[in-house]
Amino acid sequence: MQIILDRESQTSLYLQIRNQIRRLIQTHTLPPGYRLPPERTLAKTLGVNRSTVVNAYHELEADGLIESHVGKGTIVKSAAIPEDPKEPGFPVQPLIWKDFYNRQSEKMYNPILSNILDQLSQHDLISFAAGAPALETYPAEKFARISRDLIGNSGYPLEYSLTLGHFPLREYLAEFMATRGIETKPENIMIISGSQQGLDLMAKIFLEPGDSVVVEEPTYPGAIGVFNTAGAHILTVPVDENGLSTDALEQLLARRRPKFIYVQPTFQNPTGVTLTPDRRQKLLQLAYRYHVPIIEDDAYGELYYDTPKIQSLKAMDNYNHVIYLNTFSKILFPGLRLGWIVAPSPVIDMFELAKQHADLHSGTTVQWLITEFCRQGLLEEHLQYVRERYASQRDTMLRALEKYSPPELTWHMPQGGFYIWCQLPSGINATALLGKAAEKNVAFLPGNAFYVHSGGNDKIRLCYSRCPQETIEEGVRRICEALAEIIQAKSSGPNSGNFKNKINPFI
Ligand code: PMP
Repeated sequence: MQIILDRESQTSLYLQIRNQIRRLIQTHTLPPGYRLPPERTLAKTLGVNRSTVVNAYHELEADGLIESHVGKGTIVKSAAIPEDPKEPGFPVQPLIWKDFYNRQSEKMYNPILSNILDQLSQHDLISFAAGAPALETYPAEKFARISRDLIGNSGYPLEYSLTLGHFPLREYLAEFMATRGIETKPENIMIISGSQQGLDLMAKIFLEPGDSVVVEEPTYPGAIGVFNTAGAHILTVPVDENGLSTDALEQLLARRRPKFIYVQPTFQNPTGVTLTPDRRQKLLQLAYRYHVPIIEDDAYGELYYDTPKIQSLKAMDNYNHVIYLNTFSKILFPGLRLGWIVAPSPVIDMFELAKQHADLHSGTTVQWLITEFCRQGLLEEHLQYVRERYASQRDTMLRALEKYSPPELTWHMPQGGFYIWCQLPSGINATALLGKAAEKNVAFLPGNAFYVHSGGNDKIRLCYSRCPQETIEEGVRRICEALAEIIQAKSSGPNSGNFKNKINPFI
């Protein structure tokens, strides 16, 4: 008599035992007169309490399927039971779901992204972990007004629509980008469900298992996850204070033929650095010389504070080698799940096909809302507001770091975006610091989250965009206190005297 228990099932164990024996009796696998194993024996075989089997046998007895006789044990009764027409007529084994997953799916789990999404809902925590805009900046009332006006007047915003996206939104974006030096047409723009979807579609169109792609290291973990899941070999190029090292890239391209180079040239996540104009030119030259497309992820390019808008690679690209990716998530709010791709005509056709399979199109309603928001000039107005706000939040964080950090902690000052990238004192481990900081109710991301293979555990990323000014100082104070405690414990331990002087976070 074989009984298989599913310990993750919602059905209690005694009911699973009862149901399976019932089925075995119904299908005559256990004939009348069959002696069921004693309760204690079955409990031992199944690894459950005896009371679980006792309860199952009681139920079966109450159903008239078995009877117990002192001395004879528990016997299947001869009374036939009517077939239940809803039941299949044979014992159904529970599905072992993981046996059905494909080989790539085990690479999908990304604890970093899952933790960030969890943390966004923990309100008592000071979190510098999630890379998202501040809740207080969301233009909720303006959206409420626009949605009342729009949805109240017509059913069209509630309809299915084009895969490429709402045409007036693509028209607006073509104009928006023209003011940023990118000459394109609505036909070369596709609206996507966040730039994360852009990366996913990119992998679906370009990558087969075993293909190579080049990324900066460190880089955005969501991109690493997508390329890994596609079975790609991820080749890395280091980032220094001037952005991706074009010398290292050149050496790599001389030996390898990647399908594309994924790069964030402006206010990179996680380092906050910006690729210099010379390196931008060099990067494009390399792409032309080695025939490699570039995927430019410009999620943070609009969030500049100290400099004027920095020209994107796409704006400098005269030979259509750059596919450009942007999102409303960082400049407006992420719950919209809207972004856009600009690509040469044959490629945009492929994106359209791939997106059709993924989700037909991004939400029509939100596309209409954002179009109206943009047309009323509210996006540019919002950008002015958030640039000022984030600049002052960055300054607050920098002041707090100056005030509370031990001298061995160094950081890079970003000129836009959301992040400060810090180098921990030598010998201090970011994961250990994270644990200590969690005791003080403050969070950040350890640097290794942004590395493809190993490395980065001596760095941390602090995101200042989400926290109000008051909590930024307090959060930094707590992290520095946690750091000081670890340093103190180490200096009184066997490995004391281990610290170097000021070091650049990019060494
Ligand atoms: N690219 C980069 C560089 C990011 O930092 C993020 C989000 N953190 C994304 C893409 C994905 O953003 P979304 O899907 O919300 O547009």
